[in-house]
Amino acid sequence: MITKIENHPMRGNNTMRIDADCSLWIDFTSEEDLPVISQLIDGKPYIILGGGSNVLFTADYNGVVLHSSILDINVAFNNDKVYLKVGSGVNMDTLIEQCCKAGYWGLENLSGIPGEAGASAVQNIGAYGVEAKDIIYEVRCYDLLQNKFVTFNNAQCEFDYRWSMFKRDDTRYRYAITYVTFELSQKAEPKLEYSNLKEKVLSTTDGFSPMLVRQAILDMRNAKLPAVDEIGSAGSFFKNPVVPQDSYKRVCDISHKKWGIDCHVPNYLLPENKVKIPAAWLIEKVGLKGYVHGNAAVWHLQPLVLVNHTGKASADEILELEAIVKNRVFDEFGIILEAEVDHV
Ligand SMILES: Cc1cc2nc3c(=O)[nH]c(=O)nc-3n(C[C@H](O)[C@H](O)[C@H](O)COP(=O)(O)OP(=O)(O)OC[C@H]3O[C@@H](n4cnc5c(N)ncnc54)[C@H](O)[C@@H]3O)c2cc1C
Repeated sequence: MITKIENHPMRGNNTMRIDADCSLWIDFTSEEDLPVISQLIDGKPYIILGGGSNVLFTADYNGVVLHSSILDINVAFNNDKVYLKVGSGVNMDTLIEQCCKAGYWGLENLSGIPGEAGASAVQNIGAYGVEAKDIIYEVRCYDLLQNKFVTFNNAQCEFDYRWSMFKRDDTRYRYAITYVTFELSQKAEPKLEYSNLKEKVLSTTDGFSPMLVRQAILDMRNAKLPAVDEIGSAGSFFKNPVVPQDSYKRVCDISHKKWGIDCHVPNYLLPENKVKIPAAWLIEKVGLKGYVHGNAAVWHLQPLVLVNHTGKASADEILELEAIVKNRVFDEFGIILEAEVDHV
């Protein structure tokens, strides 16, 4: 079924809670709707939106916004493996809770991430040592350019850190994802290497289960991230910068001069002599943790997150705060921060 709404207010469709309207909102509930929608768009500007938890609307959107409400889930088993073909409009955390309750392993580390199944593939969502790419088997889409259904296997999705082929300039919004198939397991396959997850899980006396891992992760997330239904945010606003070794050394030199030789610059070594530096550390070091700019703020518990702390922030206030953070980090360390959040 297709639902069309003209001049649709999208405050409830983006977790930053920005007031922005779109010219036409189109919601669809089944694959059969997509050929019809393709004709409705007919050359008009359009975007595809999920739960709006990785989006900043910088102004009203003068075009069509497509949203999937395909909500069915099909389950198939092959020995220990469980294949879940999940409608792109399904809320990921509800799905993860159901899987954990059923004893299916694979998604539990992604607990608490807002958003829908379709976007999980686009974004290659990740947390606590697991990325969607580790469990995505295939992604089914409607190609809005060639008007046909197409299925991409895991390799064809070209997954990388918060990245997939769906985000390339030449494919952006071309594929409306209808189903994502996850390959889970009934065999215990916990991924507990990240941070103090193992300690947390093993310290409980309850039976070992995906639900236990989920709960430990939800506890850790709730301790540092704003609750999505209480405070407007889009999660991590900036990407962790990946820099050459000499830039990392420069950050170390600056930090040693300023905060003493014991100041350790956290880092993750990557292939090709590259180093990833946590953006949260850089933002905290320039003194912006908890910084308030009108109705916008840098979250006081996790500086990677920009929040609409009063619920009244305009897009401009968020954009101004983004610029303040980027400029301060660049002036101090010579590092360019890039936004992770889509600006529409
Ligand atoms: C408090 C908070 C915490 C977060 N924590 C994490 C985290 O730990 N890890 C992490 O990776 N992310 C995190 N995020 C970011 C966000 O939750 C993810 O990026 C999520 O996948 C976005 O899902 P969404 O449905 O809201 O997608 P949207 O933000 O609406 O869209 C994201 C992208 O997916 C595309 N898209 C959506 N649906 C479809 C579809 N059906 N077909 C084609 N394209 C589609 C959109 O065009 C857009 O490019 C967090 C966000 C918040 C607010």
